[in-house]
Amino acid sequence: MQTLLILGGGTAGTMAANKLRRELDPDAWSVTVIDKSETHLYQPGLLFVPFGVYEPERLTRPGRDVLDGGIELIVAEVAEVEPNKDRVLLADGRPVAYDVLIVATGTAPRPAETPGLDGPLWYRDAFDFYTLEGATALRDRLATWDGGRLVVFLAESVFKCPVAPLEFAFLADSFFEARGIRDRVEITYVTPLSGAFTKPKAGAFLGGLMDEKGIAVVPDFYAERVDAERKTLVAYDEREVPFDLLVAVPVNMGADLVGASGMGDADDLNYVPTDRHTLRSRDHDNVFVIGDATNLPTSKAGSVAHFEAEILTENVLHWIAGEPLAAEFDGHANCFIETGHGKAALIDFNYDTEPLPGDFPLPVLGPMRLLKETRTNHLGKLAFEWIYWHRLLSGKPLPVSTEMSMLGKRLDAAPA
Ligand SMILES: Cc1cc2nc3c(=O)[nH]c(=O)nc-3n(C[C@H](O)[C@H](O)[C@H](O)COP(=O)(O)OP(=O)(O)OC[C@H]3O[C@@H](n4cnc5c(N)ncnc54)[C@H](O)[C@@H]3O)c2cc1C
Repeated sequence: MQTLLILGGGTAGTMAANKLRRELDPDAWSVTVIDKSETHLYQPGLLFVPFGVYEPERLTRPGRDVLDGGIELIVAEVAEVEPNKDRVLLADGRPVAYDVLIVATGTAPRPAETPGLDGPLWYRDAFDFYTLEGATALRDRLATWDGGRLVVFLAESVFKCPVAPLEFAFLADSFFEARGIRDRVEITYVTPLSGAFTKPKAGAFLGGLMDEKGIAVVPDFYAERVDAERKTLVAYDEREVPFDLLVAVPVNMGADLVGASGMGDADDLNYVPTDRHTLRSRDHDNVFVIGDATNLPTSKAGSVAHFEAEILTENVLHWIAGEPLAAEFDGHANCFIETGHGKAALIDFNYDTEPLPGDFPLPVLGPMRLLKETRTNHLGKLAFEWIYWHRLLSGKPLPVSTEMSMLGKRLDAAPA
């Protein structure tokens, strides 16, 4: 019996496990997932917790329940991979051997990387919403906050779901308006990027929405520290942004086990060097990488993990059969962007094509609109929760092609 071992039972690891369990002969291959948590978290729902739209309990299910019955789940922390011995070591010292390894350990917020952020203000006047604890603590604080300077702050330029902090700022605008205190809240978006978003067309569209909603953007801000006493963000160039309430996306880093195993890339953020088209590790033949754990230049997002899972499944099967790998992953990402007031926008892009305006998935018919705020897009975002639990995690086909399509996209149009 040979072993396919998957590190991480989050979005990517669960999809890969379920898909490959269906494809591999159960008499020849065992499939094992190791995750340090016994609970699976629907992370996109974290966005709605601070505003009281979703209860925290709604976002979690036992990890065992989202895995096919033929998959073994080990709940344990992985300390290290020994790629030259084809085995991993758990934190309690137990070895687990593999024939093929998939690294799907994601990325996580590290508030301690920014001096002062997780000091005395943490979960009092400074919060994240990328964890269940943070989103819940922020909900409680927002419920009684009666206004002042709200600063949404990105500690780094690479982090999961790059649109989530923009969505947070837009939803905050609508939330305070609904509470009748919008005129008492000053919202500022502080980012190391040169604007609201990286790519020109999406940047112009999202920057325009920021202006419309009265959200100030402070670009090119590389934070050195949080001065907790003065409740002020301080940049390396000595610019300062004072706040009453800070909502941070802390530095995101891949799992420590990646660095501890010498498998990380040069920037020490613990992302695994991965072939951008085949999803195989650049350093080890029988190791594949999926989801936020890769160092690929596309978004760290569940949609990306979904498209990757199709190609990774194919390539693991090719590798086992001794066939050449298919070099097919194009960096496809597809993300709804909540813009508040019951509307959302949508972006669809890949390594080579920036988010463009247009219709999705069909020209004219849509029903979704790209780089445009619509009610249908918002309903699509809400429907994604059901799709996640019932179709996506189980690896069932979805009506969105793995490869990005130019159908419906308008190259020369300006965003609406
Ligand atoms: C607020 C928020 C909103 C988001 N919204 C969207 C959205 O609208 N659309 C979208 O596509 N994406 C969204 N995302 C991003 C999406 O959730 C992630 O990109 C996706 O979960 C990545 O999947 P993954 O499996 O790579 O990582 P994860 O789902 O994070 O899973 C990693 C797993 O590895 C486990 N692990 C880590 N280290 C170890 C270890 N040492 N030992 C054992 N187990 C370990 C963890 O416990 C975890 O279960 C959002 C994320 C956040 C935080």
